[in-house]
Amino acid sequence: APTHRGVVIPDDWPGYSPDLFTYPKHYSGDLDCVYIPHGVIMDRTERLARDIMDDLGDHDIVVLCVLKGGHQFCSDLVERIQVLNRNSSKSLLMTVDFIRLKSYLNDHSTPDIQMIGAESLSVLTGKNVLIVEAIVDTGKTLQTLLTHVQAFHPKLIKVAGLLVKRVTNQSVCLPDYVGFEIPNHFVVGYALDYNEFFRDLNHICVMSEDGKQKYRL
Ligand code: 5GP
Repeated sequence: APTHRGVVIPDDWPGYSPDLFTYPKHYSGDLDCVYIPHGVIMDRTERLARDIMDDLGDHDIVVLCVLKGGHQFCSDLVERIQVLNRNSSKSLLMTVDFIRLKSYLNDHSTPDIQMIGAESLSVLTGKNVLIVEAIVDTGKTLQTLLTHVQAFHPKLIKVAGLLVKRVTNQSVCLPDYVGFEIPNHFVVGYALDYNEFFRDLNHICVMSEDGKQKYRL
């Protein structure tokens, strides 16, 4: 089976009952299901770290973390690469930078993408850049970011995306490293939010209708 799509989660995947796992009490009643348990995310991240090491090992990279949703995946991925750095003959010198993008209100994309911290991207010139994103939906956000990053003439750009949604108008640009391909559901947790809530949830989950209502703006 091809691996470039990552772990493919089928359309009829029901997830797990939240009661089979642990999660903060303040979200009780707010979750429909645990869609991807935290342990599975970590296991997949471990493999992505190895793939990145195999491709880029012995080079220097600038990890560009896309905030806010990407912070958890980025820090876990970087930590996994650090473990490999300590335990193999190859190593990958990393520096980390951050950019913040915002385009969502409630569970819908808005046309204007706000970019914060873009002025400092001149550090990327001539460098190998690894963009780390939590989720790619239409691909618009990633496309905007890529165009912006390319303007600073890095030597190489690679993208790691934890989640890619299977959407009909499949985006032009997809990450080089994909954690999971998921159906077109709105997911939260593992730093992914709904109006800033649910970032403090370790599993990737689907919200219940009650949860959506409670935190709607
Ligand atoms: P795109 O531009 O690819 O359509 O959307 C990407 C951005 O929208 C992501 O960086 C993320 O901020 C947000 N997004 C898209 N789908 C989801 C989702 O299912 N859950 C959450 N929490 N954010 C999403």
